[in-house]
Amino acid sequence: MQPVKLELQKDLARHLRGGHPWVYKRALERPPTGLTAGAIVDVTEKGKFVARGYYDPLGAVRVRVLTRDPAEAIGPIFWRRRIAHAVALRRAYAPFADGSTDCVRLVHGENDGLPGVVIDLYGKCAVLKLYSSGLTPHRAQILEALRGEVALDGIYGRDEDVATANDDEEMEDSDGPPSKGQLLWGAEPPDPIVVRENGMQIAVDVRAGQKTGYFLDQRENRFALRRFAKGRTRALNCFSYTGGFSVSAALGGAREVISVDRDAGAIALARRNFELNGLPPEKHGFVAGDVLQYLSERRDEKARFDLIVLDPPAFAKTQKAVPAALDGYASLHRAALGVLAPGGILATASCSARVSPEEFVSAIREACAKTHTDLQLLEERRQPPDHPVLLAFPEGRYLKFFVFRKGE
Ligand code: SAH
Repeated sequence: MQPVKLELQKDLARHLRGGHPWVYKRALERPPTGLTAGAIVDVTEKGKFVARGYYDPLGAVRVRVLTRDPAEAIGPIFWRRRIAHAVALRRAYAPFADGSTDCVRLVHGENDGLPGVVIDLYGKCAVLKLYSSGLTPHRAQILEALRGEVALDGIYGRDEDVATANDDEEMEDSDGPPSKGQLLWGAEPPDPIVVRENGMQIAVDVRAGQKTGYFLDQRENRFALRRFAKGRTRALNCFSYTGGFSVSAALGGAREVISVDRDAGAIALARRNFELNGLPPEKHGFVAGDVLQYLSERRDEKARFDLIVLDPPAFAKTQKAVPAALDGYASLHRAALGVLAPGGILATASCSARVSPEEFVSAIREACAKTHTDLQLLEERRQPPDHPVLLAFPEGRYLKFFVFRKGE
């Protein structure tokens, strides 16, 4: 079947020719009627081919580009080729079969030329998350391609509820309860799956955990934290989820680690993760509750920590929300600095793509000024190679991770 042609508004072809993969609803001249989700369309300028992609009648992004080659057909060979490239990149630079790590992001959406498709691997179970209803008709071919590239026991599906996407919000997860999962192929995954991450054992709930079950993007940052945890007596991991940074800190030498997250299920898994790594949970703290409230109570008690990790969820999901997000980062850091001991380490992350590293640092600087604190930057990190960034897609460059030391 020949792809349907969709004409672009004036001057909007340039960013697509430059490799950006999104065509917004307002960029299309005559929104077609009767085109179904997942239909393959050719975007044109004055009738000339610009790019080929799939159609999404519900999202603000109406077309996601799959290829800029008019001769490339979208079918089983296409999906197989793209997934093969993505998996080869991981085998080369983010190995997942080397004994110490068996969890990895195999496909990172737009940044791997597979817009809207995320595939995370946990041991022998892959979790597929589709971010657009336009991918549903292609799911069977994606599964087939994946099975051809990686030896798996099963594939689990955790699609995002895409019907609610608003104008400025794409490839972001909704704030509601995690989406319901279903087995797509093979064996039911163990509950939980115990994976290896740089030698740590981590229990992952792929059925009901957040996102696909675990935050793989922080893998190397969790490892990097170990050296800063040496000799620490009391560490606090805020927004801990299942305690990846907590276990890392304890393995790095921190004597007592307190994990705080409002997700009680995640906190239960955090305790389990300490046990799995031979760390007695009774020596550590596990708090299911609100971070800001926890920090203010500790400040009132004049409690002190000599290592604090902050890894909150994305504060700015839309461009409009950026100023409020920066205020949020500033007050969170104020609260954390209020309980950080002199000479203490602050490891802090932001995963809002719309907040630049400079803006994030300026929010931290504001918190320093208000609390009369000096911070030295010891290390600055981003995301690992299994979360590559397509340069034409600045939205893909989202993770920031800084390690600071507070003045004596
Ligand atoms: N650091 C984690 C990932 C954190 S994701 C890791 O390495 O795996 C962000 C976490 O913040 C989620 O688990 C979410 O439940 C939690 N969260 C969001 N708002 C919160 C709040 N106000 N208080 C406590 N936890 C919160």
